[in-house]
Amino acid sequence: MASKNFDMIVIGAGPGGYVAAIRGAQLGLKVAIVEREHMGGICLNWGCIPTKALLRSAEVFHLMERAKDFGLKAEGIGYDIDAVVKRSRGVAKQLSSGVAFLMKKNKIAVFMGEATLSAKGKVSVKGEKGVEELTAKNIVLATGARARELPGLEGDGKRVWTYKDALVPPHMPKKLLVIGSGAIGIEFASFYNTLGAETTVVEVMDRVLPVEDAEISAFAKKQFVKQGMTIMEKSTVKKLDRGADKVTAHIEAGGKVTTQDFDTVISAVGIVGNVENLGLEKLGVKIDRTHVVTDQYCQTGVDGLFAIGDIAGAPWLAHKASHEGVMVAELIAGGKPHPVKPESIAGCTYCHPQVASVGYTEAKAKELGYDVKVGRFPFMGNGKAIALGEPEGMVKTVFDAKTGELLGAHMVGAEVTELIQGYVVGRQLETTEEDLMQTVFPHPTLSEMMHESVLDAYDRVIHV
Ligand SMILES: Cc1cc2nc3c(=O)[nH]c(=O)nc-3n(C[C@H](O)[C@H](O)[C@H](O)COP(=O)(O)OP(=O)(O)OC[C@H]3O[C@@H](n4cnc5c(N)ncnc54)[C@H](O)[C@@H]3O)c2cc1C
Repeated sequence: MASKNFDMIVIGAGPGGYVAAIRGAQLGLKVAIVEREHMGGICLNWGCIPTKALLRSAEVFHLMERAKDFGLKAEGIGYDIDAVVKRSRGVAKQLSSGVAFLMKKNKIAVFMGEATLSAKGKVSVKGEKGVEELTAKNIVLATGARARELPGLEGDGKRVWTYKDALVPPHMPKKLLVIGSGAIGIEFASFYNTLGAETTVVEVMDRVLPVEDAEISAFAKKQFVKQGMTIMEKSTVKKLDRGADKVTAHIEAGGKVTTQDFDTVISAVGIVGNVENLGLEKLGVKIDRTHVVTDQYCQTGVDGLFAIGDIAGAPWLAHKASHEGVMVAELIAGGKPHPVKPESIAGCTYCHPQVASVGYTEAKAKELGYDVKVGRFPFMGNGKAIALGEPEGMVKTVFDAKTGELLGAHMVGAEVTELIQGYVVGRQLETTEEDLMQTVFPHPTLSEMMHESVLDAYDRVIHV
């Protein structure tokens, strides 16, 4: 069989792969992309986008319930879960089709099928048309990740759900257990809790959203509890007994195991990289647990083989995957791109209230030996937050006391997932407290709290 030759073959059309393919094509490379399921990957089809569509419905519902606070009348408020899900699937479909259009526009050859590395520089694609052989000097692995399934806590699509099930729920939960309080778990907890499910979150670590700054986690937890969630920290779900219409969870906390019944369980205990059946072992690619080991340029150590995005490890975020995709395409095209700096990648969680952060937490900065200056500003002191009816939240900044470098920024409250990018740009430009204090922030905006938090770190805060 004649093989088709390319400059670059990308395996996986998620935000890592499709962005790498577009950048490669822009730089004049002959590019092919192989995808076994859906253009746009997990992000567009089963991750970032459909969850945000669901959460938007929950947010609007919540605001309708609060109509009176705004002097408005909304009677007989309710929801149709099927319609909410239908909207979310429609948004995902629209964006996935958009990626297909972008492939065409950039003259990228798309092969729908399962890819394996048959040898160095060779990819076999098993699709509807049979097996096709492709060759290229450079191959980019962007096969992503899937839900981690702990023994006994596996999803069954009925009463115990993975994130995929939770996006297309077979029923609306009445009494819900969410195992794991990372971004994925807490977003689903927030969505279903807002729509009225009695929600319990079990977290093995000593706090919810454990990668966030401890103060932000504590603030968020308080809000979740106020909204009616039960939060169990330092707790582990040991076992699930599955019945026809209920699941009995055995939960260990403080050395004691108790049982509780739920009608639905969402297992959100992390993800594992899609490293299997790709032919990686044969080529000598190093794998650490379930992720391909790479250097700072996403090189695997096998000449011309790169790994980007979720398959290459944490942080498991779409923007990290895309940025690595651009970097790798530029490297392949002969450029000299900068490596991606993991500590400058913001993390956003779209629960209610939202959480966003970039850089070091206060504890991490101290652990690294920095003498820190910390600023804080509450939403309560901001005019726009009050006008929006969103007075709950805070902005925290961490500076190096010696140099004034912005080491980290941490936020909880309305719209902080949009605000965080201001600090990301600041960090990219290696900003110091002086630049941030000299910057004029528009009024009235939530962004003024970003200014005030910096001022607070240097005892110059105005509005508290
Ligand atoms: C519920 C949920 C919510 C999330 N929310 C956010 C968020 O708000 N923000 C954020 O930044 N991140 C979020 N993420 C994470 C984000 O989705 C991932 O970080 C991102 O999709 C990783 O991109 P990727 O390109 O590495 O892989 P993926 O998006 O997983 O794409 C990999 C693609 O490769 C294909 N593939 C795999 N193996 C093969 C093969 N052998 N042959 C051909 N094709 C193959 C798959 O079908 C898939 O389409 C969320 C994830 C989940 C699950």
